[in-house]
Amino acid sequence: MVTAKETNCLSRNVLIVGGGPAGLATALMLAKQGCTNITVLEKRPAADYYEPDKSFNYLIDGRGQKLTDLLGLTEELSKIGVPSTEFYLTLIKPNGNQKTFKVPVADPKRKTAYWLPRRAFVLLLYQEIEKNWQHCITVLFNTKCSEISKIAESEKLQVVAETDNNNLVKFAPDLLVGCDGFNSIVRNTLKQWDDSASDRFEMKCFPSPSAGLRYKVLSLPPSFPLDSSGKEQAKCEMAYAIRGAFRGRKLAVSLGLLPLKNPDEPRSANIITWPDYKIWELKNSHQVYDFFEKAFPQLPISQIVSPEEAERFAKSEGGKFPTPQYCSGLYFVGDSIGSASVVLLGDAIHCFPPDIGQGVNSALEDVFVLNEALSKSDRNLSVALPLYESWRFPDIKALIRLAQIAYPWQYNQAPLRRALWNINFFFRLLLSRSLPYIFSPPAFFLIQNHQLFYGEILGKVQRTTQNILVLALMLICGVLALVMFRLQASNF
Ligand SMILES: Cc1cc2nc3c(=O)[nH]c(=O)nc-3n(C[C@H](O)[C@H](O)[C@H](O)COP(=O)(O)OP(=O)(O)OC[C@H]3O[C@@H](n4cnc5c(N)ncnc54)[C@H](O)[C@@H]3O)c2cc1C
Repeated sequence: MVTAKETNCLSRNVLIVGGGPAGLATALMLAKQGCTNITVLEKRPAADYYEPDKSFNYLIDGRGQKLTDLLGLTEELSKIGVPSTEFYLTLIKPNGNQKTFKVPVADPKRKTAYWLPRRAFVLLLYQEIEKNWQHCITVLFNTKCSEISKIAESEKLQVVAETDNNNLVKFAPDLLVGCDGFNSIVRNTLKQWDDSASDRFEMKCFPSPSAGLRYKVLSLPPSFPLDSSGKEQAKCEMAYAIRGAFRGRKLAVSLGLLPLKNPDEPRSANIITWPDYKIWELKNSHQVYDFFEKAFPQLPISQIVSPEEAERFAKSEGGKFPTPQYCSGLYFVGDSIGSASVVLLGDAIHCFPPDIGQGVNSALEDVFVLNEALSKSDRNLSVALPLYESWRFPDIKALIRLAQIAYPWQYNQAPLRRALWNINFFFRLLLSRSLPYIFSPPAFFLIQNHQLFYGEILGKVQRTTQNILVLALMLICGVLALVMFRLQASNF
């Protein structure tokens, strides 16, 4: 006879939808937990598939490294990433003047973090599967999950996936894991099934000054000249902020390049603006060359941007920064013994603009917390999944609030608001250095401390705001008392 514990334990088959950072990391974590039959469905053709508009760089910090430590991958990560301690930025002005400096908002006291492109990180996880876990993890590329249904009575799941040659493959997992990002089909299916009034699987959205900004990526050669003489070449481990010559709303653009370890990897220059900027009206390669040559007179654009890349850039839709959002339901368990369970991780449950660099780190922390919940519950899913939700949800809520306030004005989308934000940032930093027991550093600094959960960070930030208000009130009362005292003294 099958007991409840046996049906719920991890020895049965697991299907993970999405082979991005969260999906492959979850597969490795479950394999380490003893699960022997894991299948990952990934709609992209390969782990290192290059998509110019998704070629953003990750900074895997101490939070993400809790999981790479668990998987034994941090040493490899350090070999393929650029350490944050070596993060130098060269600012290139339109007149060609350059200035190189260390970025001041990185906290030097924290664990070294590593910069690397998304595809290099996904490949690192995939290579670990290929090397050590092939016997229990199968990754199916070019395979898109298209339908999830419940088989009535038994409460078993049926998952249908389409391959690139239009074949349909069916799965009946005991545990379904949704790591399929922002538009998660797994979460959307749970939303349809959830007949309670709780909206557990509905994404709740919150405003942010950076939500709705559009981004496009210009792919550049691994090394390229920084001036028309061709004497100075871009260095792969150096970050660049290349300022455009155009001024004013709708025209001003900058190119942002993050550091890379691999000298043979193409560089990606991010362009981030409001949707009504001129750059979104460029329709063909001629218009792209014309705009970029005028906008960046300091760069030999025709030597850097190939005609094919100019055409691709013109045709690309780019992307939009999402609104900060989360859902409160992180799991689903059927009522009867033997019924399947579903759990959600990563962008499928929380998503926000890249201001605080926590997208990938929070996804890896989800996996870490799920691992802790499985260990604590002796791998019994009906205990582990509610535990995962109760531990993780308060932090997800705090994370979304932090994404709204920590660093949303960094894209120069509103210079005055950015200046005010900078004043607030340095004021808090100053207060925290002078009176550390009363005032905490700004959120952007605290986030870099991986030993703090997001909920603790938000608590510290809110307490500091209250203390600043109390201080301001005390100052106002002090000044008023002084004025009244002087007035009274002058009446006598
Ligand atoms: C412009 C931009 C810049 C960003 N910059 C940063 C940054 O600097 N730092 C940072 O930490 N984060 C950044 N992020 C966020 C980061 O990319 C995500 O938070 C992180 O990738 C989350 O990983 P994930 O595995 O949960 O989701 P994803 O990375 O979205 O992976 C989901 C995977 O599921 C696959 N998939 C989806 N649907 C299906 C389906 N039906 N069937 C099969 N496969 C499917 C997708 O192909 C994808 O591979 C950025 C995001 C954007 C949009």
